[in-house]
Amino acid sequence: HPGRHLQYEITRFGDNDKLMIVYDITRVHNLEQMRKDFVANVSHELRTPLTVLSGYLETLLEQSDDTAPRWQKAFRRMDEQTQRMKNLVNDLLTLSRLENQGAEAAAPDTVHVPRMLRQILQDAQIMAAPKRQQVTLNADDSLLLCGIEGDLRSAFSNLVTNAVKYTPEGGRIDIRWWADDHGVHFEVQDNGIGIDREHIPRLTERFYRVDAGRSTATGGTGLGLAIVKHVLLLHRGTLDIHSRAGQGSRFRCSFPPVLLRRETAIEAAAD
Ligand code: ADP
Repeated sequence: HPGRHLQYEITRFGDNDKLMIVYDITRVHNLEQMRKDFVANVSHELRTPLTVLSGYLETLLEQSDDTAPRWQKAFRRMDEQTQRMKNLVNDLLTLSRLENQGAEAAAPDTVHVPRMLRQILQDAQIMAAPKRQQVTLNADDSLLLCGIEGDLRSAFSNLVTNAVKYTPEGGRIDIRWWADDHGVHFEVQDNGIGIDREHIPRLTERFYRVDAGRSTATGGTGLGLAIVKHVLLLHRGTLDIHSRAGQGSRFRCSFPPVLLRRETAIEAAAD
């Protein structure tokens, strides 16, 4: 059936009989594609006006010495909100790209994950400093991963940023990277506010937030975990979330052993 999207289900009866049900999901598929295209186009179109707005605001803020304090405050608030909108548009574009990639994803390459994690750690430590949180990294330096560098960076840094955001002052955030017989694993553990059990299955849905008020205050877009889920799908990985309200959370990404690459001693010496 060219141009049609079909899904089938086979049920067995007794020893020899089978029943096959074919569903025509063309309409659902086309609607879903229209939704994806619409989101991608709107996000793309919003980029230019936002860039213009933030350009003008930057000029206004630079000249703020000659401006009345209440205007200065207004410009700063406008600038913050424009930045928030830019983050949202960027996250929507990233998500659209990941959703539409499927089989034609960018060519995977060997990614030096430990090096990437050291950079993510540095950024996290800068974010965590005002809250006097301790961020640590424990990574096996010889473990590299076959994957898409930019996407893996988005996923890991989203998880680390969340841990910093949802952990109060003086908390701990521990990042780990290791391998075992089941595969290669990235994990972020925090002793922050945690998540009630009922929310966990829905966390990776777009815009799903446990507490909308609090999340808006922390500057998130509600798309971070949806991006993580799609990056993991592209890498045949899984996300395991373990959390208790009031005690902290652990987000673990596991990748199949076939994606593991080991750094040779020669490469390590050149590093
Ligand atoms: P946001 O931009 O709101 O952080 P995410 O998709 O990254 O969006 O996360 C979805 C929701 O999951 C957050 O709003 C927050 O309620 C919850 N969450 C994510 N990470 C953590 C964490 N480490 N500790 C507690 N809650 C978390």
